[in-house]
Amino acid sequence: MNRESTEQQIPSSLIDRFNRRINYLRISVTDRCDLRCVYCMAEDMQFVPRSQLLTLEELFRVGKSFVDMGVRKIRITGGEPLTRRGVMQLFEALGELQGLDDLTLTTNGTLLGRYAQALKDAGVTRVNISLDSLREDRFRRITRIGDIHRTLAGIDAALKAGFKRVKLNSVIMKNRNDDEIHDLVAFAEARGMDISFIEEMPLGDTGDHDRGELYYSSQQVLGDLQRRYELLPTTETTGGPARYYRIDGSDTRVGFISPHSHNFCEHCNRVRLTAEGRLLLCLGQEHSVDLRRVVRANPLDDEPLRRAIIDAMEIKPKGHEFDLTAKPVLFRHMNVTGG
Ligand code: SAM
Ligand code: SF4
Repeated sequence: MNRESTEQQIPSSLIDRFNRRINYLRISVTDRCDLRCVYCMAEDMQFVPRSQLLTLEELFRVGKSFVDMGVRKIRITGGEPLTRRGVMQLFEALGELQGLDDLTLTTNGTLLGRYAQALKDAGVTRVNISLDSLREDRFRRITRIGDIHRTLAGIDAALKAGFKRVKLNSVIMKNRNDDEIHDLVAFAEARGMDISFIEEMPLGDTGDHDRGELYYSSQQVLGDLQRRYELLPTTETTGGPARYYRIDGSDTRVGFISPHSHNFCEHCNRVRLTAEGRLLLCLGQEHSVDLRRVVRANPLDDEPLRRAIIDAMEIKPKGHEFDLTAKPVLFRHMNVTGG
């Protein structure tokens, strides 16, 4: 078959076996982080040797191939993405891609003071910033080493840079920070930000952190909030798994990402690329394809890469099978795939 006829067969959209259209790619650019949140990592972590990471150019090749096949949204995550050396190059290159509607970032905010404006200038549309507590000592306990003032300064810098939307992400844990739900929402509301509450997922062993005991469902968070706010359900979506409510009389949306109490797999539209170039078809399963091998075997030709991506759609599983009461079945920590 000549090259032209093979290329014609590359589809302009990615559809999996369950007829779900994949239009959203999350790229983890590093598994390293400057914090050690108790639900995400163990205190002592072994990170991937830098030599095994995809280079920034390779990450771009993969991102571009996805966009060529209909992906409209890319989220850069990690680990802490802003700790990856030279990562601005990647944002700048992706920001130029025709067809990419939304280039977004998930960050703990510690380095936003330095990078927020450059990210906005590179074409980043929206930023999610993780914040689980507004109290200095508690923030330190949850992140093990973090300084809340850096994250707060990062939030200010993001607001000043003028992204389309800045959102907070909070993981709520019973008896750890469930008494701050109102304060976190009030903080977001005062700044015109959205906020999403995330149910903890059993990814990787995190030492003596007991996920079953600390579980606090989205339903409980919603119940707590309804005592103070009138929350109006909306059908709005940002292309992710969150279900949103609007606070009556305010611009702020409150989202819930609820893998346990509200399974969102049926509408899954995304896949994830790890920093080593493994394409993960589901956050809660191990089905994956090694794209690094394909990229490196074909340095000047993206067609085998596109083929590998199309073939991967055949193994995207129907859904996750998270169980907080069991030992983690997945040894992969959240920092490997990003949120
Ligand atoms: N370092 C960045 C940050 O913290 O935003 C990006 C990566 S972090 C893995 C992405 C999101 O995943 C964060 O909002 C974090 O709270 C969330 N997260 C980490 N571990 C989690 C877990 N086990 N269950 C649910 N969410 C988790
Ligand atoms: Fe780092 Fe984000 Fe994981 Fe916290 S949640 S340890 S900030 S990667």
